[in-house]
Amino acid sequence: MENFRHQMVLQQIQNRGIKDKNIIYAMRTVPRHLFVNDDLQSEAYNDGPLPIGFDQTISQPYIVAFMTEVLKVEQRHSVLEIGTGCGYQSAVLSLLAKHVISLERIKELAESAQYRLKKLGYTNVDVINANGWNGYKQNAPYDRIIVTAGAKTIPKPLINQLANGGIMVIPVGKIMFSQTLRIISKDSNGNVNKEISLPVRFVQLVNK
Ligand code: SAH
Repeated sequence: MENFRHQMVLQQIQNRGIKDKNIIYAMRTVPRHLFVNDDLQSEAYNDGPLPIGFDQTISQPYIVAFMTEVLKVEQRHSVLEIGTGCGYQSAVLSLLAKHVISLERIKELAESAQYRLKKLGYTNVDVINANGWNGYKQNAPYDRIIVTAGAKTIPKPLINQLANGGIMVIPVGKIMFSQTLRIISKDSNGNVNKEISLPVRFVQLVNK
């Protein structure tokens, strides 16, 4: 599996322009095949998303790398993720950040992701079974916020919970499975700037 993983990183990640060596290291390390069901393990290093049950998916490796690179995560950062799914993106982030809080609305997925992450040694991730539309006030503000489901509009509470100097990445689109990534940054005075990036296809972010 390690060989397949190294191939994946070279062909799908590095050859498409991801340069950050910490992200490359993280994706060479995290055992993606252990984040999917046994019967899909042989496909875990393919160039696409895979089903994880409950009509949800594990994201395409390149999209995980791209969104992570956009965030410019540093070792001192606290990160909020909305949409844990199987926990793969959380594991990648956990190797780059100080602490990751990840919210997942489907109880079974939240519980299995938390169990998997602890078992694999990603001890700085807390998965919380909650709807993430309103973020998670308890630990706000966050240096970085990543939403891994497609939102119709950008949830205001998430912008409020982004620290000054913070960066957020979120897929936004009115049509199902068709969004563009938005990169939202706050400067040191709290002024918000928005940019449009890649077109993507995420499952829907369920409204509160
Ligand atoms: N981050 C995952 C991909 C997750 S797929 C990875 O690493 O592969 C999107 C997930 O978002 C699904 O598990 C879905 O249940 C969850 N989700 C959708 N709307 C949500 C909401 N409002 N709050 C929390 N989780 C949500």
